Amino acid sequence: MIKFLDLQKINMLHQEAIENRLLAAFRSGWYLLGNEVKTFETSLARYIGASHAIGVANGLDALRLIFRAYIELGMMKPGDEVIVPANTYIASVLAISDNGLIPVFCEPDLVDFNIDIARIEDCITARTKAILIVHLYGKAVFSKELQRIVKRHDLKIIEDNAQAIGAEWKGMKTGALGDAAGFSFYPGKNLGALGDAGAVSCKDEALAQTIRAIANYGSIKKYVNLYKGLNSRLDELQAAVLDEKLKFIDADNARRRAIADYYAENIKNEKIILPVLPADPLSHVWHLYVIRTKNREALQSYLTQYEIQTLIHYPIPPYRQEAYREYNSLCFELTEQIHEEVLSLPISPVLSDVEVEHVVEILNKF
Ligand SMILES: *Cc1c(COP(=O)(O)O)cnc(C)c1O
Repeated sequence: MIKFLDLQKINMLHQEAIENRLLAAFRSGWYLLGNEVKTFETSLARYIGASHAIGVANGLDALRLIFRAYIELGMMKPGDEVIVPANTYIASVLAISDNGLIPVFCEPDLVDFNIDIARIEDCITARTKAILIVHLYGKAVFSKELQRIVKRHDLKIIEDNAQAIGAEWKGMKTGALGDAAGFSFYPGKNLGALGDAGAVSCKDEALAQTIRAIANYGSIKKYVNLYKGLNSRLDELQAAVLDEKLKFIDADNARRRAIADYYAENIKNEKIILPVLPADPLSHVWHLYVIRTKNREALQSYLTQYEIQTLIHYPIPPYRQEAYREYNSLCFELTEQIHEEVLSLPISPVLSDVEVEHVVEILNKF
């Protein structure tokens, strides 16, 4: 059986190092807002090339907190609009609507699944305050044109970097491209914790301080509350694990790239459209390897028969969900085509050459 993702195997790769860090954090007797979190925040900020990194409870909170902080700072207000790709994971949209902001959906590009930058200006109105770009499946989305658009319309760029830690655009890492970014360390992400965890990175000091305060009951000084905050802190145990695993992220991402290259070169089946290898290999960290096919159901059950696990990212777009009834009548053709055709193949740092070759062999016989 080839698992879609073998989390046990992934974490056991670094068993001794992780267990040592966990044990040290356990024995320290200090479990929140301590040295492990500080150390990880410093490591993450340095890795990304961002001025500030703030550990938080999960990826959704990371994004929610960014918008919330802009509201507290008077730079956005409920009713303002945020442009977001129509084909993202629902968390991107929840972060917007949870703050009383209005998501404005933009079609993606069928080739790389990311927001189509050429369509962004059509989505801009007098109320637009930000663009939430999502580096979907691990592929960085950014361009000079995007920079010109935000300058022309005085907008913020917020990055949903949940899937793309380590990806680069012109030598700069995602998470340091826009004004602020949200990271998820959900166990299945490229940098995964042993439970929920997340982080925000940003350029601006005031924004960083505001996010830090809101995530801690709206307080910087204990029992003095500046905002109606929440409790969204990264804990010491998760921070210790993440700080250890961050050392291996480049090697892990390189292995993912090698698998993607192998798939690209060897999958030969007219019924399957492969994801395009980007001109700059470092711009993609292959969180997911997503193919398209008109015969998805048949292909998925065929692969299941051969004990190859696949998943669909994602079966239903956010605006078609019951949770967003108010947007159910919207129609985005490319987004819907993507949701009908995509299938994610196994890809991970622990997938062996033999397994990858087997997946290819089975796929080519479909
Ligand atoms: C995983 C993910 C999130 C949410 O992260 P959690 O840690 O699960 O809250 C947000 N956006 C995208 C694109 C994701 O893949």
